Amino acid sequence: MLSGSASTGPTEDDWAAAVAAVRRLPADARVLLICHVNPDGDALGSMLGFGLGLRRSGVRRLQATFPGPPEVPEPFRWLPGLDLLVPAVEAYPDPDLVVCFDAASESRLGELVDRLDTAGEALVLDHHASNTGFGRIHLVDPRAAATSVVAEELLARLDVPLDADTATCLYVALTTDTGSFRFEATTPAVHQLAARLLATGIRPGDISRRVFDTRPFGAVRLFGEVLGRARLDRAAAAGRGLVWTYATLDDLARHEQQPYVLESLIDSVRCTAEADVACVLKQVGVDEWAVSMRSKGAVDVSRVAIALGGGGHRFAAGFTGRGGAQEVLGRIRAELDGALTGS
Ligand code: 5GP
Ligand code: MN
Repeated sequence: MLSGSASTGPTEDDWAAAVAAVRRLPADARVLLICHVNPDGDALGSMLGFGLGLRRSGVRRLQATFPGPPEVPEPFRWLPGLDLLVPAVEAYPDPDLVVCFDAASESRLGELVDRLDTAGEALVLDHHASNTGFGRIHLVDPRAAATSVVAEELLARLDVPLDADTATCLYVALTTDTGSFRFEATTPAVHQLAARLLATGIRPGDISRRVFDTRPFGAVRLFGEVLGRARLDRAAAAGRGLVWTYATLDDLARHEQQPYVLESLIDSVRCTAEADVACVLKQVGVDEWAVSMRSKGAVDVSRVAIALGGGGHRFAAGFTGRGGAQEVLGRIRAELDGALTGS
């Protein structure tokens, strides 16, 4: 069967294969939904939104999970469909169907990666241009602003109507990955999808406040400290500029904060006018950093991330870096010149 290339998105054959994989499930089929490690709004929102739709369509044995510690980040602890979640250790070992959300590569599935082989069928929903083509049925559309765009289309093709709970999850996913409709991927189709979701009666003000605008006071103080040590390197990226900072596990501990509060730190750094590239190093272990990168367009940060073992998109990418913070930053700096887009 023809499979859509990463640049063009799913073909009609891909959609038909995905629809058939769901439609041919027997009544007692076990379906396992998985998303990437350290799930963000798109990973959780697309997975739970799709799961709630599947449940309404009659799938009874349904689990959702993600690798690593089974803790849902605080901003998403109110999402509809959380009751679908099980810890990874309790996930069906050999489901009839596994559906994978928002993961560009198998490495993002951690200890759940074996389900791609043990499951009767493996369906992949994603929107990363760097998607490696793992799994068997691919609904991978790099033009889609979020994986939830793909999830909503699949629900529509399965004749599962939207309800407010599904719409809430998909709306969280859409607003997370488009930066609340600010990023380049915000096409007319994105706003049309948002309109369909809002038409179910969900309240965008409440949703945005819960997801984006609610943090403990300690997080405000932590940001003050971490932003205070930001550095601007004007010469980096062939003079396009790099702004960066880092946050350690000790910083988190001193302010009694959970790692999730640092997810939005990059947004406070990337506004720097003097730098095309912004970078935040978040310590996750001894000599181990989760690195977030953003670009205003002169640099394709996905090239830097891929060169350093990660992935992502042209304007937003990341990887796990090992060594001291300065060492990791040196490696990023060395890759930046080669990642200029020419625009
Ligand atoms: P963030 O900086 O918000 O964590 O991630 C931005 C983008 O980079 C995400 O859309 C994700 O696709 C990608 N990304 C972040 N960290 C990693 C990583 O460790 N590995 C891979 N393959 N992609 C990552
Ligand atoms: Mn996504």
